[in-house]
Amino acid sequence: MLEILKKEIIEYGRLAGEKNYTPGISGNISAKFENKVVMTASGCANGYLSEGDFSVVDFEGSVLEGNEKPSTEKFLHLEYYRQRPDINCIFHTHSPYLTAFASAGIPLDMNISPEIIYCFGKIPLASYALPGSQELINNTSKYFKDYDVILLKNHGVIVAGKSVKDAYLKLELVEEYAKTNICAKILGGAKILDENEVQKIYELRNK
Ligand SMILES: [Zn+2]
Repeated sequence: MLEILKKEIIEYGRLAGEKNYTPGISGNISAKFENKVVMTASGCANGYLSEGDFSVVDFEGSVLEGNEKPSTEKFLHLEYYRQRPDINCIFHTHSPYLTAFASAGIPLDMNISPEIIYCFGKIPLASYALPGSQELINNTSKYFKDYDVILLKNHGVIVAGKSVKDAYLKLELVEEYAKTNICAKILGGAKILDENEVQKIYELRNK
């Protein structure tokens, strides 16, 4: 299981790198298995991972095997898993378009795209706190129960999925959505969907 997960993280990390979703050594990726979490080590480049770039930790954050320096955001990941038993993988990235919204302090909460409303509802913005801090966990964790994608102000984004592939595909979808929003701004701004239409999408979502 662990070896398969590492291979998946390496592969989807590489794809994220190719698409410039995880520039340089920014961000981190983790996956849950049994009662443990495998995560990228501190200072790794997620687009160029190899087998030695992983730490396995328990839910207290203690390193059980692998690299002795897990990601500095390890407790942020662990808290997400704790609150959401349905998720098995987390990508935290500084992907440029989502990070542009996070840096501008603008949540992606307008009803513009039926697909985004259907998949995520809204994409909220957590208040700024120092990366790796308990305060960042406090500011972000209030959204964990209801959201799979959360912007971190002046920082980046955190995306949760049922599998490594699912989390990656969500990241791809929302990063491209952020890009579309910026392009639409150049064209005079995206049009907001009527409340009636939004309601229909939420009804589909609840089916
Ligand atoms: Zn970060």
